Amino acid sequence: MNAIVEINDLTKQYGQKKALDAITFKVKEGGCFGLLGPNGAGKSTLMKLLTGILSPDSGGMTIMGMDARNNRNAIISKTGYVPQEITLFETLSARRNLVFFGEMYGMKGEPLKRKIEEVLQQVGLADRAKDAVGTFSGGMKRRINIAASLLHDPKLLILDEPTVGIDPQSRNHIFEMIMALKKKGMTILYSTHYMEEVEALCEDIAIMDNGRVIAEGSLNGVLEAHAAKAIYLESDDVTVPPVLEGIAKASAKGRGWMLESSDPLALMGRLVQYFQSKGIHVRSLEMMTPSLESVFLKLTGSSLRDE
Ligand code: ADP
Repeated sequence: MNAIVEINDLTKQYGQKKALDAITFKVKEGGCFGLLGPNGAGKSTLMKLLTGILSPDSGGMTIMGMDARNNRNAIISKTGYVPQEITLFETLSARRNLVFFGEMYGMKGEPLKRKIEEVLQQVGLADRAKDAVGTFSGGMKRRINIAASLLHDPKLLILDEPTVGIDPQSRNHIFEMIMALKKKGMTILYSTHYMEEVEALCEDIAIMDNGRVIAEGSLNGVLEAHAAKAIYLESDDVTVPPVLEGIAKASAKGRGWMLESSDPLALMGRLVQYFQSKGIHVRSLEMMTPSLESVFLKLTGSSLRDE
């Protein structure tokens, strides 16, 4: 694997609070890597260490082949970072804000002008370029912040919970933009506590909880290794079908049953046979898609949705 980020045994403590506890994983070059975890898991802290805003207590990071301890400027020149907090001048226009950020990266003149138009297109706000950022919605401001992080053509883009508290239209724009950036070969490190976002955007993931990585690998690999396999059943028969004995665990869900089994396909076959032979009407018999929700539940005993 060609890794763009390698994190080794990284630990960070705030006073008595261990925000990161011996974190180790790699992010391969290209595609979207999802950092999934509930609030307080340590995602922002990890991103602040990667961008040099904070220093680790112990452990190391290699980014684009460079040791993060002594190549900070070279790493920053190839990395885009969008923190959770919006950092824009409210009274200035979107374009003027981008001029400011571009100049910070040492850009100027025609190349900067061209790049600003390009990133405004990328985030879908070219038609609002002249308007003061103070008149924008939270989602539009976030998109301008993302545009600013793209001005210097980074190889690695770090997005810290970019969709929290924003409108659906901005969310869609951010998703489309990520898809387009992936196609161009950029690597995106995307943190979120919404598992649906990771399922939609990312090929590889690390699930964090309480400062630790509790599962890591390809999305499909993590689902295969940890997600519950289940069938949802609703029938006119209100009792649990006896054919389940020994091969599935039933729990009531909605108007039917959730039937967990290591071999859901075989279970499905048995259920069909059983209901046909008894002439019982089935309202719903559905193979459940393995979800990160069930992975999180299995590994931590708590639901990510309780956030
Ligand atoms: P996440 O981004 O996953 O929500 P954070 O990295 O923000 O998690 O926080 C990890 C833990 O560290 C949390 O318990 C949080 O309260 C704590 N923490 C974060 N920043 C600070 C800080 N500046 N001082 C003290 N504790 C902090």
